[in-house]
Amino acid sequence: MRRVRGLETEYGLQVRVETAGLPEGRAGRSAGWRRLGSDEAAHLLFAPVVEANAATNVYLRNGGRLYLDVGSHPEYATAECSSLTELLAQDRAGDLVLDRLAERAEQALTAEGRQARVSVFKNNVDSHANSYGSHENYQVSRTVAGGELEDLVGHLTAFLVTRQLVCGAGHWSRDRMGVGCFLVSQRAEHMWDPMGSATTRSRPMVNTRDEPHADAERFRRLHVIVGDSTMLEPTTLVRIGATELVLRVLESGRRLDHLVVREPGRVIREVAADITGRTPVTSDGMAAVAVQRHCWELAAEHADDEELREAHRLWGRVLEAIEDQALERVEREVDWVAKRRLLLAQAERHRMRPDDPRLAQLDLAWHDVRAGRGLARVAEARGQVERCLTDGAAEVAVDRPPATTRAVLRSRFVEAAQRHRRSFGVDWMRFSCHDLEHGTVVVPDPLATTDQAVDELLERMATEPRAAGSASFRSSRGPGASHGGGAPGASGSFGGSVPIG
Ligand code: ATP
Ligand code: MG
Ligand code: MG
Repeated sequence: MRRVRGLETEYGLQVRVETAGLPEGRAGRSAGWRRLGSDEAAHLLFAPVVEANAATNVYLRNGGRLYLDVGSHPEYATAECSSLTELLAQDRAGDLVLDRLAERAEQALTAEGRQARVSVFKNNVDSHANSYGSHENYQVSRTVAGGELEDLVGHLTAFLVTRQLVCGAGHWSRDRMGVGCFLVSQRAEHMWDPMGSATTRSRPMVNTRDEPHADAERFRRLHVIVGDSTMLEPTTLVRIGATELVLRVLESGRRLDHLVVREPGRVIREVAADITGRTPVTSDGMAAVAVQRHCWELAAEHADDEELREAHRLWGRVLEAIEDQALERVEREVDWVAKRRLLLAQAERHRMRPDDPRLAQLDLAWHDVRAGRGLARVAEARGQVERCLTDGAAEVAVDRPPATTRAVLRSRFVEAAQRHRRSFGVDWMRFSCHDLEHGTVVVPDPLATTDQAVDELLERMATEPRAAGSASFRSSRGPGASHGGGAPGASGSFGGSVPIG
């Protein structure tokens, strides 16, 4: 079985500009540097996107989506992927897209004679304690093992509240007394309910909004929103791989309702605060790490390809390291373990107390996606942590869609529409050329890589003149994005319709 999956990342953005008169050498201190408000910062970052598309919501040549929600964080959603390696590459491509936009923004300010520092964080909490997410999407059948998706979600709760031990990003936080402390996960503090469809009010772990982005008669989309964004590729691999495997366990008809978690909102925090994994989680007192071990055992028989076997092996190694209290065995693979080691080493070297603000700064710096700046990326460049992707795979994925899904068709459509300067709109299922009559094609099958109707539309875009009276630009909301028609040949190394680089 090939499952369609996608990963959405909301990024934290910070733009600081030097105020007049102070030399750059005085940087780092707040005197002389001003932090732009979040609207102004986002506006600056997205300026090239808006210039090329007259929109802040665009689909890229790799089939992914880049957008800015009202008053919030820049978001990149990967195209649909059917292999874990594809997903890792498409996810890393998003970091590169944001890195390049940030670089452009710095250059634009420098050209105006202002020194600027633009940071983009792939993390989940900002300095005002707002939380934002990393959404995992897994396509499932409309009925899973004879039940509704909503029934399935209950069976996932024990797994989801303990999964952070394996794939949390780690967080230097403060306890109730205001003393600095280390948590396994960033999102755990912000989660309340196992499921819901109103994400802002109820803070669910899984969003059950019924929007499959596929044939709605046959499919649903499991939308897991409890996870931390992960910087290290092996951590992302195990996050998606382990969840995939537990989903397969449930799909096989196996129930997990013996793992009863009362008050998951409380339990998820307790698990986050205990790096030993011994916190009791279920109503009969099963410890967090034991819940994971149990899921791992059930999952073994479902790891039927090399990627999943690798994810399963790593999952098992992480559990063993926690069980044996020998975390150093997985400090090259797991985000929270690697980050914690780094923070503790710095604290010791510089004699920092637990509430030293520099620890929170270092925590943040771990997540910076700017090349050569972010601490996770620096650790990668120095070979201190493991990678899953081969060199250059992420760069390639900025411009190239995953080969096994309808992202191939979307990519061809976006590229052709730009080349022929068409006014066009895209969403996950739909491709529309606004200036042709009957110019919309719907592709409900996410695994389709060829489609005759799309071929015909591309042909018409190349040859037919614009229909009289057609709008040259039409705006749209939601996942649909409209493009005003970028200049042909203007697409640079960015992978979008935006001339970057
Ligand atoms: P929100 O931004 O409010 O969370 P959304 O979940 O619809 O809304 P998008 O940002 O548009 O979010 O991202 C949708 C994600 O779903 C993408 O990563 C995409 O690859 C993935 N996806 C698309 N089609 C399917 C499908 N049929 N099954 C599972 N995932 C899919
Ligand atoms: Mg989204
Ligand atoms: Mg989403």
